[in-house]
Amino acid sequence: MPNHKIQQMATNEDLLKKIIAHAKEYGFVFQSSEIYDGLSAVYDYAQNGAELKKNIRDYWWKAMVQMHENIVGIDSAIFMHPTVWKASGHVDAFNDPMIDNKDSKKRYRADVLVEDFLAKIEAKITKEVTKAQKRFGDSFDEKQFRETNPRVLANVKKMDDIKERLYPAMDNNDMDAIKALIEDLGIACPMSGSRNWTEVRQFNLMFNTQMGSTAEGATEIFLRPETAQGIFVNYLNVQKTGRMKIPFGIAQTGKAFRNEIVARQFIFRMREFEQMEMQFFVRPGEEMKWYEYWKEQRMQWHQSLGIPIEKFRFHDHDKLAHYANAAADIEFEFPMGFKELEGIHSRTDFDLGAHEEFSGKKLRYHDPELNESYVPYVVETSIGLDRMFLAVMSHAYNEEKLEGGNSRVVMKLPPKLAPYKVAVFPLTKKDGLPEKAREIMDGLKMDYMCFYEEKDTIGKRYRRHDAIGTPYCVTVDHQTLEDNTVTIRERDSMTQERVAIDKVSGIVAERLKS
Ligand code: ATP
Repeated sequence: MPNHKIQQMATNEDLLKKIIAHAKEYGFVFQSSEIYDGLSAVYDYAQNGAELKKNIRDYWWKAMVQMHENIVGIDSAIFMHPTVWKASGHVDAFNDPMIDNKDSKKRYRADVLVEDFLAKIEAKITKEVTKAQKRFGDSFDEKQFRETNPRVLANVKKMDDIKERLYPAMDNNDMDAIKALIEDLGIACPMSGSRNWTEVRQFNLMFNTQMGSTAEGATEIFLRPETAQGIFVNYLNVQKTGRMKIPFGIAQTGKAFRNEIVARQFIFRMREFEQMEMQFFVRPGEEMKWYEYWKEQRMQWHQSLGIPIEKFRFHDHDKLAHYANAAADIEFEFPMGFKELEGIHSRTDFDLGAHEEFSGKKLRYHDPELNESYVPYVVETSIGLDRMFLAVMSHAYNEEKLEGGNSRVVMKLPPKLAPYKVAVFPLTKKDGLPEKAREIMDGLKMDYMCFYEEKDTIGKRYRRHDAIGTPYCVTVDHQTLEDNTVTIRERDSMTQERVAIDKVSGIVAERLKS
């Protein structure tokens, strides 16, 4: 590997470490049960993190529910009848193949080891294309290059050969075939470089527990591994009581639980996490149109937060889950590289069909236009709230050198997501300035999350609010008492302006629109 690449990787890893440290120091995210040395892959959102998370959730809800007359939101229970998970396929098929390296004692998802190997080959192809693009400039024909360049073709063939072995092995739960593939490809443990692997074993990711007070009478139930099933089992109730007409959607946000085999990378892969899902019910045969529509809509939502377009990309799935006839991920460039942030899936009538079969209840829609009843098809959008939080944090985190040799860490959060919108500071603790500052704060806090602070120098207070991403700081000084003006300081540009107190609310409101 060339040297510059190593450096770049180190920097990215550093960035994740810095974000984790920053998240802790400034009250965004703490490790769960930290005083007991933590619980693996479980995290708590602290005072600022809970606000940021809530704002992301609200922004999603607003875009999906408030802005769509034909989408309604629900809040279903985490516990569900155990048969739900038989019908959905989770009891039989929600398994990941795991493998351990005997030397490093590290555990991996066997399919992910192979997928990472594929990603490396794909990166080689991309590099080849980029090089040629630079060489040929405007006359470059990428399609032709991909179809004729021998090195690209050889790598594409290599990838196809691997996929031809991996996907059937996964579909048939053939653990020996996956192990053989890992061995044939010579995949080594990323930690130790060792190829000393255990057998591959299946592992069901659902957590189970008992419901009921006596051992004999207790029923085994599961903590939901996705929120979607709570929507499917309520489909008919919502459709009827809301008098919903197809196409329509049901959205919900809530906790999901997965006993992940490999849970690293901070809040990217957790065992308890939160999803924001929407199931869109459509006429059979129209699902591809809506699938494309929702892919587009969701990408626009991400971009509406002002994160540059290059940070996102689609990844269309070659291998589809048992319930899907088309699927794509929206990937985000996290500090550890491009990874799945959201999934858009065309789930066919699999789920409603299966619930009809297992419950014996009809889950049909009578389409008045077609005068026909059918089990609707479903297009789903499913995003992890915690992953979105990490995406927002990693984009917002900035270290800046300032004039005079100083530096600052500033969280350039989209203002509408920032935990606090305004911080109000009296310049000193005396001369009636705190009282005036409180009065200003009282005028703003019905509309905005505000923070009052009087400790330390103004400079230090600015730094603290840069670090949590507060878009505006308002300082009250002696002149305020005379003419009812304050200094308002903007987070990103650090510019300060003297304005009348009654203008502050409007300035903040204007910024929150962007
Ligand atoms: P992955 O391939 O990363 O395991 P997945 O394809 O199993 O994810 P889905 O079942 O499609 O994920 O879940 C929808 C979304 O829920 C994902 O795009 C992701 O944002 C989020 N998600 C899934 N698993 C986790 C997890 N363990 N921790 C945090 N978020 C998760």
